[in-house]
Amino acid sequence: MKNKKKYIQDNPWHSALKQLENVAKIIKLSESELEYLRHPRRELTVSVPVKMDDGNLRVFTGYRVQHNDIRGPYKGGIRFHPEVTIDEVRALAMWMTWKSAVVNIPYGGAKGGVVCDPDKLTIRELERITRRFTNEISIIIGPSKDVPAPDVNTNAQIMGWIMDTYSMNHEFAIPGVVTGKPISLGGSLGRREATGRGVTFTCMNILKKLNKDIKGLNVVIQGFGNVGSVAAQLLYDLGAKIIAVSDVKGGIYNSNGLNIPKLLEYASKNRYVEDFPQSEKISNKQLLTLKCDILIPAALENQITTENADKIKAKIIVEGANGPTTPEADEILNSKNIIVMPDILANAGGVVVSYFEWVQGNQEYFWTEEEVNTKLKQIMDSAFEYVCHKKDKHKVDFRRAAYIVAVSRVAEAMKHRGIYP
Ligand code: NAD
Repeated sequence: MKNKKKYIQDNPWHSALKQLENVAKIIKLSESELEYLRHPRRELTVSVPVKMDDGNLRVFTGYRVQHNDIRGPYKGGIRFHPEVTIDEVRALAMWMTWKSAVVNIPYGGAKGGVVCDPDKLTIRELERITRRFTNEISIIIGPSKDVPAPDVNTNAQIMGWIMDTYSMNHEFAIPGVVTGKPISLGGSLGRREATGRGVTFTCMNILKKLNKDIKGLNVVIQGFGNVGSVAAQLLYDLGAKIIAVSDVKGGIYNSNGLNIPKLLEYASKNRYVEDFPQSEKISNKQLLTLKCDILIPAALENQITTENADKIKAKIIVEGANGPTTPEADEILNSKNIIVMPDILANAGGVVVSYFEWVQGNQEYFWTEEEVNTKLKQIMDSAFEYVCHKKDKHKVDFRRAAYIVAVSRVAEAMKHRGIYP
């Protein structure tokens, strides 16, 4: 019985539904509205047959889940990971709906994933998986239907292959089918850094609210990929002390602060952060419970659970990853007065600049990096302010406040569209 309870708590789809139900009561969503929003609109499971470099054939499983497009085209990343499940993709798709709504951009929510381990694939195998997966999901994606983007283990090159495959099937170039593309294919300046930059803006916004200076604050970051490494660099530049970071192989710690520019160089040569000079080894488990001012989980879901929430010593948690905290752990953190800046707000910088990329591509008029970053800051700041307003009004935590903003916007749009037919 205990295991069943744990299984449910560790299932991201359970977390996503519970978070929706928590806010439904506060905003008095009707049972019909809740029933509608609980269900993803479409789920596609595909087989991805690929000829491996050794001549053998392997069939990978891929998913694209479209949760909701009431406010605009579906939007959401594609993840390559050995532990991708349909429930994980469902949860990530629903979170994308709320994320687009909380920052008020005209998108819905979707997510995709392929069950594979990129560490064990050659670059050519990765390309063939990407192209065949794109082909299989091309019946439901498109620039005004559903626009994928990078996520865990996918990057600008993979988006380039998606754009090429989709375009070849339509016989003309269709850059708008994905965002997070290489700049040479119509990608936006600032997109690669956008999520980490948005996480940094969120840190600065909450510190400003608390009247605290970033300089000298101790920061711990789990995950040193796209989101974690950019946040580390930007916070370091602002004067924070990054005392620990980690990746899938484990973590490194230095109580005086890590030299982040040197670490970035080291990690790009060695792939992982392990054995970085002037640091001690620590496990991911230890890293999460270090005493610090700001903890940024920027790896995967379910990192802060009922098993470690009462041991967390951070004062503020800024969720760079999607779904790093389970709803049960959230209650424990709340009872300890730890401030949690929720994923749907804190890591929305990526989808905001994806939206900018789509707008620039549609207009065929491209902005400078400074313009992109300024507009991103405006959107992140005003979303933060509006969430704060709802937080004070309803006397709730930041996650519930962000959900109040997001779910109310989607519910209002739903009322205006009505139910077809
Ligand atoms: P990435 O693949 O670039 O990096 C992931 C990092 O996490 C790597 O350093 C990896 O080694 C590490 N990692 C993986 N498993 C781990 C584990 N069990 N423990 C510790 N570290 C582990 O991915 P990313 O794009 O940086 O995404 C990270 C998180 O941010 C994900 O939850 C993703 O959904 C979320 N996110 C990403 C974007 C984006 O624009 N890329 C936008 C919003 C949210």
